[in-house]
Amino acid sequence: MKKYVCEVCGYVYDEALGDESLGIAPGTKFEDLPDDFTCPLCGVGKESFAEEE
Ligand SMILES: [Zn+2]
Repeated sequence: MKKYVCEVCGYVYDEALGDESLGIAPGTKFEDLPDDFTCPLCGVGKESFAEEE
């Protein structure tokens, strides 16, 4: 499981946790999120997320 961070606002999507507030189940891989997924805080698309080291 990896984490991806929004390069704009710093929101972190954690695959192990998903995002309950968005209806995303724990264990959902970032690549399996819908193509129209947007950052819940600032609204940018998946292309603005980077894998957290
Ligand atoms: Zn953001």
